[in-house]
Amino acid sequence: METETLVRDLLTFIGEDPDRKELRKTPARVTEMWHYITRGYRTDVAALLKDSVCDEPYSQMIMVRDINYYSICEHHLLPFYGKAHVAYIPNGKMIGLSKIPRLVDAFACRLQIQERLTNQIAETLQDTLKPHGVAVVIEATHLCMQMRGIEKQNAVVTTSALFGAFREDERSRNEFLHLIGQARVN
Ligand SMILES: [Zn+2]
Repeated sequence: METETLVRDLLTFIGEDPDRKELRKTPARVTEMWHYITRGYRTDVAALLKDSVCDEPYSQMIMVRDINYYSICEHHLLPFYGKAHVAYIPNGKMIGLSKIPRLVDAFACRLQIQERLTNQIAETLQDTLKPHGVAVVIEATHLCMQMRGIEKQNAVVTTSALFGAFREDERSRNEFLHLIGQARVN
């Protein structure tokens, strides 16, 4: 398989012997793993959400916090990972709570940059639900920073996308920030 040949070449490039006994299954394992960790490319986001959208008069903030995710930095093909916090204020439409972590997963399991991941989640909710507001905050530890010794070893990068009421109304924004305990987000 062509991908396995690529992995063998990579092993040779880093100075390994791809025929070393312990490495013989590595190209097949790596191929299978990359298929799995990039499964977001094969997730139909619209289909994922469609059946779950329902009409509801509820109009208070709905929040799912501390969603664990794993993504891959497209600049270095190394993982970044952490927690996502997602909130919205419905405007007549809601989705099942369990869909939110799956939405995060669908965009995280691709090559990404943290800023785009944040925006894609927020924009998808905005487009699907047309809510009063959407807020997405993503905290990330980037192995490409840590392993290359860039910035402090324990640096956590935070990105946010705030739409509608979360951008315009200080009370909504503060309530959201209070709930995620993240006073440092702008
Ligand atoms: Zn990187």
